[in-house]
Amino acid sequence: MTNETKIGNHQIDPHSLMMGYGYDPQLSEGSLKPPIFNTSTFVFEKAQDGKDLFAYLTGQSDRVAKGLVYSRFNNPNQEILEDRLALWEDSEDALVFSSGMTAIAHLILAFARPNDVILMSGPLYAASEGIIMKIMPQFGVSYVDFPASATREQIDAKMEEAKAKAERQGGKVALVYLESPANPTNALVDVEAVAAARDAMLPDAPIAIDNTFLGPVFAKPQHHGADMSVYSLTKYVGGHSDLIAGGLTGKKALLDQVRGIRNTMGGICDANTAWMLLRSLETVELRMTRAAENAKAVCDYLKDHPKVERIAYLGHLPEGSRQKDIFDRHELGAGSTFSLYLKGGEREAFAFLDALKLAKLAVSLGGTETLASAPAAMTHLSVPPERRRELDISDNLVRISIGIEKADDLIADFEHALKAV
Ligand code: PLP
Repeated sequence: MTNETKIGNHQIDPHSLMMGYGYDPQLSEGSLKPPIFNTSTFVFEKAQDGKDLFAYLTGQSDRVAKGLVYSRFNNPNQEILEDRLALWEDSEDALVFSSGMTAIAHLILAFARPNDVILMSGPLYAASEGIIMKIMPQFGVSYVDFPASATREQIDAKMEEAKAKAERQGGKVALVYLESPANPTNALVDVEAVAAARDAMLPDAPIAIDNTFLGPVFAKPQHHGADMSVYSLTKYVGGHSDLIAGGLTGKKALLDQVRGIRNTMGGICDANTAWMLLRSLETVELRMTRAAENAKAVCDYLKDHPKVERIAYLGHLPEGSRQKDIFDRHELGAGSTFSLYLKGGEREAFAFLDALKLAKLAVSLGGTETLASAPAAMTHLSVPPERRRELDISDNLVRISIGIEKADDLIADFEHALKAV
């Protein structure tokens, strides 16, 4: 049963399918696990097979030709990985890339043309903002942004603004690009409200959302109206801080456009990395669940600490708040990355970071080990200071990604580090 997702009427959970879906051992000498296909090219049986495959790949023929050609287009490890990644949100298709940023760059290049406008939520991961706000304007693509926590009325107003701007420029709104929870503030976007506004106002604009922080286990934005989910697979999916990769899942017709760009530009994930990600996917639910339990214990400890101003942790959203309402409608868990705002500024944040013993002082997130960093001084240093202020990325903010260590040990580490502040 390589591609079955049901036993009778019973729907098998994606977690259970991560161990075997999409791979037929009989095609690889009975090997239980897929071998790593370290090859640049694949042998055709007949010249006509090669022609059929190229005709399909280049869009000159609609007749589906199945087979492998050249590892810039496809490879067994990458194809199995894409089949498994697509299962988490019941997506029609998935694509994997050499990094999260490669996925985002290919996505934008597939949809945006000169005079178009991208409507984005803010903040985004700094390099994603860099592509939309700094690089794409050099190619005639502009943007309109709205705060991640915007209400339906605010989203409507910004969508009107983006539509009017695109019309003035003789282009279209090419893409609605979201990130939720936003890095590093954890602000949640009301994806259902964005999708309803888009359906009413801009039916042709696809919605893509960066689902790196909570996906694929705790957030499934395609169930709430998004057309595509973007992943830095480097983070929770890879989960061991030992690889760089990206992913895109969603509607096939949309992903086909991105695949065309990937075939030409070559941002595909290599076979070794794809194999490591297959291994990682087998434990992603276990890892994310354990890390989320740890994060809850740590945040319960931190929230009343006298040296802590506040924490932006999704498990502590105030009852009755708009963010809690969005959380309840969209998310399946609070995850394990949060922002700790210490009383003070950069000096206090650095003192805390320098005193950590078990947690590591490093950027990135979603690994088995706990990481802590200061976004204003590190990942988001390139964001102009006034925008950082606007988005609450202050100097006293420490971003923490909790791992799968013992919660008591992490609490002891934070207690000790807070003494140094
Ligand atoms: N999206 C988010 C939310 C991220 O945090 C990151 C990296 O930190 C990226 C995208 C970029 O991913 P990568 O580093 O795999 O290119």
